[in-house]
Amino acid sequence: MAATLPILKRKKEKKMENEFRDSIATVNKQGKRNWIYAKRPKGELYTIRSIVSLLFFIVFFSLPFIQINGRPLFLFNILEERFILFGAIFWPQDFFIFGLAMLAFILFIVLFTMAFGRLFCGWVCPQTVFMEMLFRRIEYWIEGDAAAQKMLQRAPWDTSKIIKKTSKHILFFALSVVIANTFLAYIIGVKALGEIITDPLSEHAGGFAAMLIFSGVFYAVYAFFREQVCTVVCPYGRLQSVLLDKDSVVVAYDHIRGEPRGKFSKNEGDCIDCMQCVNVCPTGIDIRNGTQLECINCTACIDACNHIMEKVGYPKGLIRFASENGIATKKPLRFTPRMKAYSVVLLLLTTAVTFMLISRKPVSGTIIRTAGMLYQERGTDSISNLYRIKLVNKTTAAVQLRLKLEDAGGSVEVIGNPHIQVKAEGQGEGTFFIVLPRKHIHKRKSSITIGLYEGNKQVGSKQTTFLGPGL
Ligand code: SF4
Ligand code: SF4
Repeated sequence: MAATLPILKRKKEKKMENEFRDSIATVNKQGKRNWIYAKRPKGELYTIRSIVSLLFFIVFFSLPFIQINGRPLFLFNILEERFILFGAIFWPQDFFIFGLAMLAFILFIVLFTMAFGRLFCGWVCPQTVFMEMLFRRIEYWIEGDAAAQKMLQRAPWDTSKIIKKTSKHILFFALSVVIANTFLAYIIGVKALGEIITDPLSEHAGGFAAMLIFSGVFYAVYAFFREQVCTVVCPYGRLQSVLLDKDSVVVAYDHIRGEPRGKFSKNEGDCIDCMQCVNVCPTGIDIRNGTQLECINCTACIDACNHIMEKVGYPKGLIRFASENGIATKKPLRFTPRMKAYSVVLLLLTTAVTFMLISRKPVSGTIIRTAGMLYQERGTDSISNLYRIKLVNKTTAAVQLRLKLEDAGGSVEVIGNPHIQVKAEGQGEGTFFIVLPRKHIHKRKSSITIGLYEGNKQVGSKQTTFLGPGL
């Protein structure tokens, strides 16, 4: 009986240690929302994060206004299937590049996360950057730090509370309108957005409704839903459990150095159990419990703990960027062969997609042999096939295109105007014959190449088949 008591005690301790896994910090035992009042972070990393966020804001809010040759630098017009990346227009025909770019992007995220953890979430994800660097700051400015916010929440609805809460929500909504409009500018372009704002409401009722819906969604997210986006909704966050392993570098608590935690006892570890790391956490977790899905790697707990370590005269870095294996083996953070390998793959992927973007032809299209027709006899020595061509001009200038058979021995006869006109960023089409001498036809179905020329410069080429009588 005496021997079973320590076992039972250890089991109970183990159960208590893992209890945090049975619930999320933002929901209480009754299943209701546990509002997170995160203490205002400060420290070296928060300063760097603020600078990164400032750069993010400059890029995010200015990109829709930057134009190259009269085109926006970026446009993601899903409604009209028109996409512009770095000033280059993409049509549905280019979707294989878009698909590849998306695949490369997903692979990039997977590899990056396996090597460097969820760094993206805390530092450059728009949700976190807007929440922590704009909305949360407004809240600190109006309502004060976490303790003051809690007090205000419990206080009766007097004039001061009404003024504070109302002004906060008015500012939140105004900011949401600005963010929503900027996102809309990425989708429909600044010009179209300007028209929605300045023209009479009746002319753009749909656009105005979209603007209001977007603004309302952003306001609801930042005013009420907040960290739930990262902890409950975000699919990337959900993927962490399969992407991370013991070598992934994450924000981690050095349990070997910190445990057993306690308040300044010689026999204890370095963690003085001050709870500052928990108080600053915007997702409400205790990082000392180990890597958790809710951790967005914002590093606020690193700053908070470093501050405490400095105060009590212990070395900094009790919470730091480290891998589980790194902490267990007490080895400092280093650029491991795995990180190097993943970085090389990431670089190759980025180079491949960039090459595809740069080497994309300015004019593309499709050539189809007229359905239901075989071939036509041209006198005694030639055979012709009838084709239809559809062209897409991806440049900002109109083009006049000439077709030329690249395979020797034959010719192209365009019906009507010998040049096919395609307006800027537009589409054009034409009908033409390919005439081949019988002596060049050796098979029933041969592959031929048709060059697209603007003047003497080849701007594209297409392959198609030529149908002959056979041998
Ligand atoms: S801030 Fe540091 S010392 Fe304080 S509880 Fe967290 S880990 Fe322990
Ligand atoms: S545990 Fe630390 S890094 Fe993770 S979300 Fe909380 S404060 Fe940010």
